[in-house]
Amino acid sequence: MPLIELTGMELPALQEYLQSIGQPKFRAAQLFDWIHQKRVTDFDAMQNLPKALRDRLKEEATLTTLTIQRKLESKLDGTVKYLYGLPDGECVETVMMRYSYGNSLCVSSQVGCKMGCAFCASTKAGFVRSLTAGEILAQVYETERDLGVKISHIVMMGIGEPLDNYENVLRFLRLINSPSGANISLRNLSLSTCGLVDQIDRLAEEKLGITLSISLHASDNETRSRMMPVNRRYPMEELLAACKRYTDRTGRRISFEYALIAGENDRPEDARRLAHCLKGQLCHINLIPVNSVKETSFHADRKRVREFQQELSRLGMNATVRRTLGADINAACGQLRRDKIEETK
Ligand code: SF4
Repeated sequence: MPLIELTGMELPALQEYLQSIGQPKFRAAQLFDWIHQKRVTDFDAMQNLPKALRDRLKEEATLTTLTIQRKLESKLDGTVKYLYGLPDGECVETVMMRYSYGNSLCVSSQVGCKMGCAFCASTKAGFVRSLTAGEILAQVYETERDLGVKISHIVMMGIGEPLDNYENVLRFLRLINSPSGANISLRNLSLSTCGLVDQIDRLAEEKLGITLSISLHASDNETRSRMMPVNRRYPMEELLAACKRYTDRTGRRISFEYALIAGENDRPEDARRLAHCLKGQLCHINLIPVNSVKETSFHADRKRVREFQQELSRLGMNATVRRTLGADINAACGQLRRDKIEETK
């Protein structure tokens, strides 16, 4: 029988499980405290649990731990990039960035990705599986333990499409926000999607108040479909309408991510069309000079990035160019994992 993963269980599920094995309800709060406050990963260390219960947990349950397979640290700004090994031998990437307002962690939600975006290294080796809530959470706990820092902000922008792993991602968000756990404010949680419209509507109904980021990257359907196959299923008009519904429902401003690729989507007319598409939407535009990916010729032209931003500002749009952190360890998302796969081959 597979082991029951306790790290990703919310308190009511823990209560249900413990009651099903004849334990009183209060044991769940004790166990939750060991896992999420004290961050213990060994049942024997849970001294206020009876020995018989600890023995039973050792037999049928598990606490998720990750192993550090690679760790790169920027000498320029302290950014740290991890390749974490998962319990089944797969691996994912996690990046810790230091800002004046706190430490922000970019976590992965899947091993690989199905979405096939042309500029993204995470999808090149295909999709393997979704992460459990415990495996997403363990990226936060392991990074805090390794670096001795407190993470104050989370961005779900690592490997994978978070809304393609909806249940686990939602459980992770609720757990990381739990006052009896890491207690990270919902306002400091941000989720980035390539645009799964049905799931955006579903997320709006949760009324979590997290920041929604949309990987837009184009200002017309033809270009977007070429770069992001998801656009053939959910064209831009449907996606932007869902963004509007999200804002109406939650009151939250949407963050649109736009990776600038020289000669592909960075002309002044692209900026004008983008401004036109987003007119009236409560939003912020994050311009990202694209990272080079081995198999593609994609690169960014810094001068055109500046001009693109100026054109958007001239049209009254709120747009900034994302600061590049960890330039000396710079590797596009998914590249560490791909290098590791190639080494193994
Ligand atoms: S950009 Fe995001 S959604 Fe697109 S392939 Fe990469 S990880 Fe998947």
